[in-house]
Amino acid sequence: MKVLVINCGSSSLKYQLIDSDSEQVLAKGLCERIGIDGRLTYQKAGCDKEITEAAMPSHKEAIQMVLHALVNDKTGAVKDLAEIEAIGHRIVHGGEKFESSVIINDEMIQAVEECTELAPLHNPANLTGIRVCQELMPGVPMVAVFDTAFHQTMPPKAYVYGLPYEYYEKYRVRRYGFHGTSHSFVSKELANFLGLDINHSKLIVCHLGNGSSVSAVLNGKCVDTSMGLTPLEGLVMGTRSGSIDPAIVEFIAKKENLDIDGVMNVLNKKSGVYGITKGLSSDFRDLEDAAAEGNELAKLALSIFAYDVAKYIGAYAAAMNGVDAIAFTAGIGENGPDTRTEVAEYLGYLGIKLDEEKNQMRGFNNKISTEDSKVAVCVIPTNEELAICRETVALVK
Ligand code: AMP
Repeated sequence: MKVLVINCGSSSLKYQLIDSDSEQVLAKGLCERIGIDGRLTYQKAGCDKEITEAAMPSHKEAIQMVLHALVNDKTGAVKDLAEIEAIGHRIVHGGEKFESSVIINDEMIQAVEECTELAPLHNPANLTGIRVCQELMPGVPMVAVFDTAFHQTMPPKAYVYGLPYEYYEKYRVRRYGFHGTSHSFVSKELANFLGLDINHSKLIVCHLGNGSSVSAVLNGKCVDTSMGLTPLEGLVMGTRSGSIDPAIVEFIAKKENLDIDGVMNVLNKKSGVYGITKGLSSDFRDLEDAAAEGNELAKLALSIFAYDVAKYIGAYAAAMNGVDAIAFTAGIGENGPDTRTEVAEYLGYLGIKLDEEKNQMRGFNNKISTEDSKVAVCVIPTNEELAICRETVALVK
């Protein structure tokens, strides 16, 4: 079955056409600057990227251009759009309403609209993608895959905050967690790769990218995760602060004469390793280069990040009363051997030892701990699009 996977942002849209039988990507790309001017990047498997500048006043024109590119005589990936038998959409926030992926229908759309308050920037864009696809590809079954769904198995002790309980009852203020598609995919891959029975396993997944989160997966089910009501909580990230003393919000607002939106903008966009390094970069490659040249703030930012990851691993080993295996995934998790080494240095008490030669490899599922390490440590490349494709096929078939 050919499945189109759509990840719609407010001014961008990523897509992949995947053959679910072979799990090969047939074509992929993205639309950028939707509503501003418009640029389509399209790449058929085995071919070079094509970039087309064209007006995209709305997501409708963007998706129309993607569909045209997919059937283009020269570089199209299919002869006819009728070959696309299903569409999988990424949805950021499913609140407490969605514990798993669902077939898209009117009732489901209404329920996602009700979660919009929890993700005001993302959910409306995700819904726009759904509506445009319904208009342009009527009759094609569509599935919604939620970033939050995998974490819905957390027990109340992990998701209830130390706030007046009425805020949970009235407004559903609680920990939700994000990157769920990745945590779900990687935990399953990790168990398979190591030959573990996932139903009797204690796994920790470290999704370390521009946004980062860690999750504790007990017997295949998420029991805790570092992101919260929003993706701001948890680890120090590229530009997000991660967890801080909430009183800092008031303190900075007064000192810098900022309103609540101003402080939230600082916490989301000007903090993290970017903020610590006085705006040097949010990209770990730049920070590693700067640290190698002696930049003290870059060294500090990298060490804060690794220390944070190690603390979450320790916390989740305690939460599960042990850990069988740890996976590193996403941009930094997959490509940052120095970060992995620094994290592992804190974990000697768990009997963890890395094989430094294997730790330098990249691009495939790889066990990077030594044979005598008490806990297996692996690099498992994430693939959220493939995970969405698998979920879509499972529901549509
Ligand atoms: P993601 O959000 O998963 O796409 O991850 C993006 C981040 O991964 C970038 O901002 C970098 O910080 C990091 N990254 C990518 N490649 C490397 C690399 N070779 N070494 C260290 N960090 C990397």
